[in-house]
Amino acid sequence: MENEAIILIDLWKVESGITVKANIRFNYPMEDNIRFYIADGFIIDEIICGNTPVDYISSIERLEFRAPTKKIEIKPHGINELFLSYHGKVDSWNTLYEEDILAINFYTAWYPTDFSINTKYIVKVHLDDSFCIINGKYNDTEKVWYYQPLDFDVNIIALRNYEIMQSDNVTLYYFGKMNQQAVLPYFENYNKIVEYYTHLYGNSKLNNTNIVILSKDNNYGGYFRKSLIVFGGIQEDHDGIVHLLAHEIAHSWCQGAKTDSWEDWLNETFAEWSALLYELEVPNNINKFEEVILEKEAKFQHKPIKTEDLSRPSDVHDNGVYRLYKLYCLHGKEAIKNILRAFDSLDIKTTDNLILKLKENSETVMLSDYISDMIK
Ligand SMILES: [Zn+2]
Repeated sequence: MENEAIILIDLWKVESGITVKANIRFNYPMEDNIRFYIADGFIIDEIICGNTPVDYISSIERLEFRAPTKKIEIKPHGINELFLSYHGKVDSWNTLYEEDILAINFYTAWYPTDFSINTKYIVKVHLDDSFCIINGKYNDTEKVWYYQPLDFDVNIIALRNYEIMQSDNVTLYYFGKMNQQAVLPYFENYNKIVEYYTHLYGNSKLNNTNIVILSKDNNYGGYFRKSLIVFGGIQEDHDGIVHLLAHEIAHSWCQGAKTDSWEDWLNETFAEWSALLYELEVPNNINKFEEVILEKEAKFQHKPIKTEDLSRPSDVHDNGVYRLYKLYCLHGKEAIKNILRAFDSLDIKTTDNLILKLKENSETVMLSDYISDMIK
């Protein structure tokens, strides 16, 4: 059997950022070389096995989406566990170190990541219950928070002195009582959007969701995780909020294609088109629909969706959306819906599999040809 590791992380929020101690425990004595990454901005205090310092090689190697990272390589010689400690403050997408907020995530590369073997993480956050850790559990005896990732992201959001809006299936966290009116559209539109998608895709994918609005200045930036949607700040216009929220919620259905390659066009194009369909069909917001399409048109360059080196292109949010708009103009909403549903039904989410799926049915063969042309 292949070796695996459990990584027990102790995390402290400190004046100068974070302090981390990670205990990496292998199922079997580790013989193969160990490789993992963390953000280069963190200072490694020590890597030890028992009380003995371990030799390691550190080299700069970037990972997609992450703050600049360093690669750590270790020759293990049959060890059962490793202790790694480091500290620092690394800025990245939706990352915050404030008195009342700690937000560190996949993009921050704050935890040892991209290991050469399978890993499972358990995080003990050394903060008392004046904080709330999103998707974490407070341990009254130890006076610490425990957190286990729900998906690929070891996502720590610790909040204090926040405001809250809550219903059966959604909890919204935000900052500043004076922002109550401004954040209302995030709360009020959530269920309408979920209901529309559940009907559109014919299945439900969301249970309880936490929406966190940070007080960072990237108002237009959000990301989606299991049971979590994070926004950098409060957007000022109502239609913009609804569109962004609809895009992020759509990722419950529109996900699974490789995000660090050209195939990410599937996730992003279909999430954006789910939001566009919602705008067309529910609030009947043709103005927003047209505004989004005009934006995409302005950025559109005639180049294939598939990149030559298979990398993720910078226009991953635009190219596919505009090309599907052309299809929509010719064949209407049903054509787009058929593509979205076919994508949702795939076990392995690739463009080739989508093309094959659409070929299965005589009514959607034309759509399969259309997608084939888009990528060429
Ligand atoms: Zn997206």
